[in-house]
Amino acid sequence: MNQHTRFNLPICLAVEDDAFSHSDEIIKRYLPDIAGQKAIIISEDNLIRIYTTKINEVSKDFGGAEIYSMQNASFDEAVAIAKKVCIEDIKVIIGIGGGRVLDTAKYASHISKAVYICMPTSLSNDSLASPFSVLETEGKARKTIPCKIPTAIIVDTDMIVNAPLGQTLSGIGDTIAKHTALFDWKLSAERTGTNVEDFAYALARMSYDSVYHCDEKDIKSRVFIRILSRALVMGGLAMEIAGSSRPCSGSEHLFAHVIEEKFPDIRISHGIAVAMGSIPACIMQGQDPKGLIDFFRTYGIDYSPMSYGISEEMFDEIWLLARDIRPGRVTILSDIKHDSAKFSEIYSRMVEV
Ligand SMILES: [Zn+2]
Repeated sequence: MNQHTRFNLPICLAVEDDAFSHSDEIIKRYLPDIAGQKAIIISEDNLIRIYTTKINEVSKDFGGAEIYSMQNASFDEAVAIAKKVCIEDIKVIIGIGGGRVLDTAKYASHISKAVYICMPTSLSNDSLASPFSVLETEGKARKTIPCKIPTAIIVDTDMIVNAPLGQTLSGIGDTIAKHTALFDWKLSAERTGTNVEDFAYALARMSYDSVYHCDEKDIKSRVFIRILSRALVMGGLAMEIAGSSRPCSGSEHLFAHVIEEKFPDIRISHGIAVAMGSIPACIMQGQDPKGLIDFFRTYGIDYSPMSYGISEEMFDEIWLLARDIRPGRVTILSDIKHDSAKFSEIYSRMVEV
């Protein structure tokens, strides 16, 4: 599995206070060849409105770069941006936004072969530095498509401190989900007679540990933001090195994928969905979920399915569908029979206050 001989690493990972106000200095420091090249900024209407000054500053730093407001995070829009970039001889794509913007900008740079600079406005999941883009293909249906990772990642801690709390909680959830993902990865390797990639495993484990064992509990603090940024990036790099999403994605992600793909009306962020999925996954794996539950309570992550309108019947159905949502992916779900009574018991435990 994963006979992977080549991988890329970002040249720059800058996590600094007010970083967006001196992005040109950061780029000159790490990527002198790019400085002065024709660039385009990809963002969204609402972000361009909220962060007018910061985005204009970045544009100025890159020679008055065009600010392109994307409409939807679709495959077609990523291709349209790539076409524009190729025709207009643009060499650098700068994505400023959350997951939707960053996935579209990442894929556009993958197709156009432009340098990609990732500038997140929130830390909602580990797609920041992952070798995948999640894009709408037809209507609301989304697909995860392999692509290259960013050349530079610039995190402005002031920006993240001021981002909606739910986004940061989602990023924490995606990081903590590595606990059950790594268990499933090892299990899969055992069942298929292969090995996990030790270095990717260690990186993902460190990503998880740095947040799980973090002494700083104030998620609006700069210390915490720095730790979380690096944890998310390390998760992305673990996937790049492994050549697959396995270091960061196990049965808890299958649960989230069913919600995202089959129940689009359930309003829940990716990271909270995987956090919710990690509790049953942990129990099915024969591990004690107490550590995860205590952690979620400490940070105020609401993991009760009921809070998101997921009834006991839906919960059971989601877990049943999770078994087949990614055919060929071996997790604890492939190892055990579906037991509705067990899920009913887990559900009751999760909705207890
Ligand atoms: Zn994830």
